[in-house]
Amino acid sequence: MTDTPLKLFNSLTRSLEVFAPVHAGEARVYTCGPTVYNYPHIGNMRAYVFADVLGRTLSWKGYKLTHVINITDVGHLTDDADAGEDKMERMAAQAKKEGKAQSIWDIAEHYKQAYWADVKALNIRQPAQWTVATDYVPQMIEFAQGIAETHCYELESGLYFDVSTVADYGRLARAVTEDGEGRIDAVDGKRNPADFAIWRTTPPGETRQMEWDSPWGRGAPGWHLECSVMSGAVLGFPFDIHTGGIDHREIHHPNEIAQNQAHCCTNGLDDPKNSGARFWMHNNFLVERSGKMSKSSGEFLRLQLLIDRGYHPLAYRMMCLQAHYRSELEFSWEGLEATVTRLKRLAMSVENLRKQAPSTSRHVYDQLRRNGLSHVVMSADDWALAHVIKEFDDAISNDLNTPLAITILEGFLKQKSVSPSSRLTGAILLDEVLGLRLRTIGRKSLRKKPLRAEKDRMLTIKWIEQQLDRRRQAKSERDFELSDSIRDDLNRLGVEVMDGDPLGWEWKLS
Ligand code: AMP
Ligand code: ZN
Repeated sequence: MTDTPLKLFNSLTRSLEVFAPVHAGEARVYTCGPTVYNYPHIGNMRAYVFADVLGRTLSWKGYKLTHVINITDVGHLTDDADAGEDKMERMAAQAKKEGKAQSIWDIAEHYKQAYWADVKALNIRQPAQWTVATDYVPQMIEFAQGIAETHCYELESGLYFDVSTVADYGRLARAVTEDGEGRIDAVDGKRNPADFAIWRTTPPGETRQMEWDSPWGRGAPGWHLECSVMSGAVLGFPFDIHTGGIDHREIHHPNEIAQNQAHCCTNGLDDPKNSGARFWMHNNFLVERSGKMSKSSGEFLRLQLLIDRGYHPLAYRMMCLQAHYRSELEFSWEGLEATVTRLKRLAMSVENLRKQAPSTSRHVYDQLRRNGLSHVVMSADDWALAHVIKEFDDAISNDLNTPLAITILEGFLKQKSVSPSSRLTGAILLDEVLGLRLRTIGRKSLRKKPLRAEKDRMLTIKWIEQQLDRRRQAKSERDFELSDSIRDDLNRLGVEVMDGDPLGWEWKLS
């Protein structure tokens, strides 16, 4: 659209690189999805907000996007290296102990739906395909058979990948060397500590709820194998970008790369150095001081907890966008509160513009797409719009600088000399990348909702607004005693009446 090239940070080279697609005009992206043994916490959801912004940016830059996100419903152990139990099997055993009639398949389905609800609430676009690991087991076996002879060996517990058989193992992680420094060497007989299971056979005398026959015995695929197979099957090797949280840079992705190298090399598909994807991108962590991110702590930080406390889920999306994806982001309730206010200011400006502007000026954007900035003949208004599009494009093209992109949008909305219709167009266009639903969101919907208060104190929005109507009526009749007593009653119930609030909120929960 504009001439600014898209630069992305490639964890493989630890540097910013200009994005050049494998297939002209296309962008093929694979994102490591959730393990559906429990609800995702908001840190997990940061990984998908990041992948969504990446996808939206690729679409904005004009690439035809094919995005795949997987659902891991088998094979992810409690430790990312080869130790521990399968997270799904453990959850199912726990359910059984608690007397719940839930099969492992029910558990997977329940948490997949819960994850999808969060995806929707955060306005993360639907990928072209969700790949579910258990749907790909035959392809996983086939992939493993293809590399077994040259790159693997069998132990009693399964088929293991020998990391010394591929060049440069662990180059993505850097810190991890072939001898697996820092890894847990949990399995007897491994040739190198960093070797990992690509197929785990069910120990004699045990049964798993999820198991399949294979040339290496009945068992289940390894987690690393799953992602190699699903990404290659849907996107074809090599594809453009593989994403995940920064923890995956250390074990999961180096292991995927090792398998991809083995597979591509064995099948003569590409250079042996090929890692399966050109770019490997990682979001940094969301951190929280009190330990509420841990899924083993009773009430952990799920998106639903934020919603229950009355926050609009898009406030969390905005919180993610306010930080660069490669920076650590600290979560706090105060921070979320400040973010809601900022989002509300944005929503309020756009809401006002919607009232003033009869139409949008999308033609400027369309012309820009067709002709580039310098070829567009425009009015002063159109110039301002074209200028902000260019500025915004520069920001997101610089490794997805969303914090700057938001500031650019806010600055543009304040430009009183630009017509409401151009400002509205700007907001709607830039929101194609930000995904804050600025076209429809209203400041009222961002008000802290009394969901908890409804349960605890029997308050409803309708009732609060009725009291405020009564109070307005009393004021108009100059019955200040009544209006004050209504305010005091509301205060006692935890509803703060906000007279003269510049943001136009009439009340909030205190
Ligand atoms: P999992 O369901 O454990 O496979 O994790 C799903 C995604 O969340 C992966 O991409 C992880 O790297 C990512 N992730 C896990 N914890 C955090 C966190 N605290 N902040 C950001 N991303 C995370
Ligand atoms: Zn993965």
